[in-house]
Amino acid sequence: MYANKPPRRHKSDDEPRPQGSDLKHRQLSRGSFRLRSCTKSPRVPYNSLMITCLFDIDGTLLASGGAGKAALELAFTETFHTTLRTQIPYSGRTDRAIMRELLHTHDVEYSPANRQTLMSAYLALLPDSLNRHQGRVLPGILALLDELRRRGNIALGLLTGNVRAGARVKLGHYGLFEQFAFGGFGDRHYDRDDVAREALGEAKTHVGPQLSPDRVWVIGDTPLDVKCARAIGAKVVAVATGVHTVEQLAESKPDLTLRDLADPSPFLEMLG
Ligand SMILES: [Mg+2]
Repeated sequence: MYANKPPRRHKSDDEPRPQGSDLKHRQLSRGSFRLRSCTKSPRVPYNSLMITCLFDIDGTLLASGGAGKAALELAFTETFHTTLRTQIPYSGRTDRAIMRELLHTHDVEYSPANRQTLMSAYLALLPDSLNRHQGRVLPGILALLDELRRRGNIALGLLTGNVRAGARVKLGHYGLFEQFAFGGFGDRHYDRDDVAREALGEAKTHVGPQLSPDRVWVIGDTPLDVKCARAIGAKVVAVATGVHTVEQLAESKPDLTLRDLADPSPFLEMLG
């Protein structure tokens, strides 16, 4: 049980333990998303009834009105002084995979330097793009997050194809950033299944290594969300608030399919 873990060990018994603001500074300095964001979603002591919910962002928590896609495409055309000739699929994919295909299909070398330049331009343009596009938090999300936090045995994390910095900007724009304490992101992965494995690892770090995948729920809006949940042995609820219909999502055989989360009671009942 997490509550029975021994206290954190320090380098030396002689070394003074960090106190107050010093401790906070050290935590913030780790560069870890999970410790920067947990003001509303603190570490929940592990117990055998612990449940972890891993939320997708685009099409599940929020609709950015196309702000992310517009920012990336503008970053691409400005960075490489070209025009967009081919549309590529975005839904359910990782930012890294999207950027690779964007460069490949426009005959731009997919080099680390080009990838980094495009990423920097995208992140610089994203805040303004979010301001200019009409986005929204999707129906029922705020109430659902409140209810999950209220239950006291649920850890809230992310499982998103967004790069970590992009996720922070998008969620921050809609006041959701501090709801999530950890997550898996699209910085290094081309395959969403690998993002799911990262998210599960982060969940175990956050709530305890005893966490069983069958106590993990993925909440997403695409068949790829369902697939990646199965890759880690998690349960999954698919919500038709993105580009896929209820019928399309049902074909991927999630544990639950919902039109949206305005009435999350079927999901809450399955959580127990
Ligand atoms: Mg999505």
